[in-house]
Amino acid sequence: MARLVTKAIIILLVAVSDLQAQTLDPIRYTLRFPAPHTHYVEVEADIPTGGRPQVEVYMATWTPGSYLIREYERHVEAVTATAGTRSLSVEKSTKNRWRITTGGAPGVTLRYKVYSREMTVRNNWVESAFAMINGAPTFLTLVERAARPHEVRIELAAGWKSVQTALPPIAGTANAFRADDFDTIIDSPIIIGNPVTRDFIVDGKKHVVLFEGDTAFIDADRAVADVQKIVQAGRSVMGSLPYPHYYFLTMVTESSGALEHKNSYLGMTGRYATRSRGAYLGWLGTLAHEYFHAWNVKRLRPIELGPFDYENENYVKTLWVAEGFTDYYASILPRRAGVLTRDEFLDGLSGQIEQVQVTPGRLVTPVNMASFDTWIKQYRPDENTANMSVNYYPKGAVIAFLLDAKIRKATNGARTLDTGMQWAMQRYAGDKGYTPAQFYAVMSEAAGVDLKDWFARAAESTDELDYTEALDYYGLRFRPVDPKTAPAYIGGGTRNDNGRLVITSVRRGTPGLDAGLNVDDEILAIDDVRVRADGLAARLAQYRPGDKIAVLVARRDRLMKLDVTLGADPGRPWRLEQAPNATDEQKGRFEALMTGK
Ligand SMILES: [Zn+2]
Repeated sequence: MARLVTKAIIILLVAVSDLQAQTLDPIRYTLRFPAPHTHYVEVEADIPTGGRPQVEVYMATWTPGSYLIREYERHVEAVTATAGTRSLSVEKSTKNRWRITTGGAPGVTLRYKVYSREMTVRNNWVESAFAMINGAPTFLTLVERAARPHEVRIELAAGWKSVQTALPPIAGTANAFRADDFDTIIDSPIIIGNPVTRDFIVDGKKHVVLFEGDTAFIDADRAVADVQKIVQAGRSVMGSLPYPHYYFLTMVTESSGALEHKNSYLGMTGRYATRSRGAYLGWLGTLAHEYFHAWNVKRLRPIELGPFDYENENYVKTLWVAEGFTDYYASILPRRAGVLTRDEFLDGLSGQIEQVQVTPGRLVTPVNMASFDTWIKQYRPDENTANMSVNYYPKGAVIAFLLDAKIRKATNGARTLDTGMQWAMQRYAGDKGYTPAQFYAVMSEAAGVDLKDWFARAAESTDELDYTEALDYYGLRFRPVDPKTAPAYIGGGTRNDNGRLVITSVRRGTPGLDAGLNVDDEILAIDDVRVRADGLAARLAQYRPGDKIAVLVARRDRLMKLDVTLGADPGRPWRLEQAPNATDEQKGRFEALMTGK
């Protein structure tokens, strides 16, 4: 009986939510750029009120995928509202909310301007040549939890020819697009101007590769050919393409950064991105990372990342899966696409391992808590961050590498991490989301052995990661370094500040920290001999580990001498290479990882 009642309630709820989706009137935005050289977008929003005497609208304060409260509302000005010819009262109610007194009007027209001159993937940029519009810093919406459609129509500025976005167009209206809900309009950047575009079809789905900005040196034909191979590699890993179409949006603006969306990604690069191999692989690696997010995080997501609360922090402990595993595949995809060599793959993986292993904070903060605290640490790094926390991108990628080897070994190569990701996708994609325990369970199932304790050590403790099993499985080793030839070192970072040699970081476990060197100290001399800003390494080469030196520094302009006992530079003991005695079987396993076959 109880079961029947529950079932009836569920049917009723489904019916109500269906009805709601069908009957909610859309918010309709018009974006205008009457003077783009002044960097403003003018927004007009027709907002249904349901006849309520007051409605409240808000602007999101952060963007999913970039976990920091950004306060976009600081760029909003001149907020007014009308109902027909009547002006309405608009009162600011919180930092990012406005309350409109409607007088009972069924709909109100809200107008405001947004200053748009921040070339980051989260924000807006408007100039005479083009506009880059993101949802979070642009669209004020009703304070409500409802799947209300949001429509946007764009009026082009003089000289602008096209609007490019993953949002589906509204038939019959030029440059108009429809999002089924606020999440979708937030998740769909819009590029307006005269971009260079190329497209291709995989599995019957259109993929658009776009460059906007200074595209004179960009080789779009070369790029699109490689992007297509990366798409095919992604399809092989995950089994199918999860989106209706996909837009690779690149702003060629001498900025950097990239952000994933459900059916697109927005990234930034320099004008020579396709010219040198290093820059090109950097661009393609970022592209592969954001593209893999179409599965991992945009569809297969931690349970906490939905529904989003756009006004408050959303705490999540598994960004090491969402970001780290994505970073692992950001190398796997280009490798299997044939655009990255085997050595370049190993070099990238070595870099990730090194980044984890030289970070003292790995022994202080488990990677799941680094994820939880992303709002206050990952996006707000300072000189002590490395001492107290660990970056969940490389540590998550290294965990993925170790897990992949574990699953392959336990199943004799029959299953891989790809299998686990596919199964996780089948079970938890969409509104479900996964808990850490569910993620551990599905990976254990893929391996055929219980990995719960292994995950607890790798992700929820500060224990060192164990590389032995994975290296042995693939016939790899860390390139030996000879401690006898290690140069002397102080430890910590310095920068050349207009000819001044200034300390920028002092890592835990280094002679510098033990001797009391501080961040912002200016190093003036060693053993009473002047050290120039670019001369520290050459000077330390005159000493041996164990030597005692006197370092003269200026701290807030006061001179002081500190005694430092030099240590031995640990060098780079985390560089992977094929073990000289690797068997054909081991080499074959690594080849299987490289090719996905
Ligand atoms: Zn990412």
